[in-house]
Amino acid sequence: MMHGNEPTGFEALLHLIRCGRPQCDWTLVPLVNPTGVDAFTRLTSEGIDLNRRARDRGPLESDLLKSLLASRPFALALNLHDQRSLFCPSGQNIPSSLSVLAPRCIKEGQESYSLDAQAWAGTLSSLMQELEPNWGYARFDDAYYPTAFGEWTQELGVPTVTVETGVALNDYSRERVSLRLGEVLRAVDAARSPRPKGITHYQNLPINTPWGVDLELQYGKHRSHWRVWEEVQGQHYSSGIAKAIPEGSGTPVPYQTFNLLKAEFDAIQAKDSWTSLELYAVSSTGLRSFAEALPK
Ligand SMILES: [Zn+2]
Repeated sequence: MMHGNEPTGFEALLHLIRCGRPQCDWTLVPLVNPTGVDAFTRLTSEGIDLNRRARDRGPLESDLLKSLLASRPFALALNLHDQRSLFCPSGQNIPSSLSVLAPRCIKEGQESYSLDAQAWAGTLSSLMQELEPNWGYARFDDAYYPTAFGEWTQELGVPTVTVETGVALNDYSRERVSLRLGEVLRAVDAARSPRPKGITHYQNLPINTPWGVDLELQYGKHRSHWRVWEEVQGQHYSSGIAKAIPEGSGTPVPYQTFNLLKAEFDAIQAKDSWTSLELYAVSSTGLRSFAEALPK
């Protein structure tokens, strides 16, 4: 939890611990951003994105992480994040449940790639794909983000994979994906080295694109697109849907479409945002089951 609102990796590490003594010597850092966790926010309470501060001195959270990463010659670093449901594999109308990235690095002034990191990234993706063949799998384009931790750790000489878990259509609360990620980590522990075809698998993954929308509502020729949101205020968690504002020039990629009668379509169009409970109360069959499956 470098970002305080991305708990799936934390849950996966709990799973790894519960499975008993691992074979490899792991250093687990389940929580890097405690103030962000308390507020369920990406940023720290000082408003800092820790994954953009790898080259600075301070804040304390990233300094501690850097000193830990530099303390031993690690064979692999995994940076576990969650991604929003708008990410989908290019050309597919399902959310990316697992996206991986082997970050670029710059060594002796030259941009380069870590083949070990690519092999591990492909291995992680193929391990999860064997467990859940119907989920979406993608890789990020490897644009260079010098202030991110992945690049920094890669340049330290540690093969690094940034792992971004997402929702699946039957798993908006990410319970299943966290369990599966835990199983994948367990398999990594047993395997100790990446698969021979890992690099090819990684390079053949579709690119992660941000055009996904969770929901398309349709009445005749009328359509509207919606995204799922989650929020925590104090002790209170809520979720719901909000009208999707298109990002950039991409065509929206709906994961689920519901044809509604005019009255229901108009009623839902009348507001820009609904909580899951409100949506459940006003909607009928298909949309009602969608609302019911949203995290509470
Ligand atoms: Zn993150």
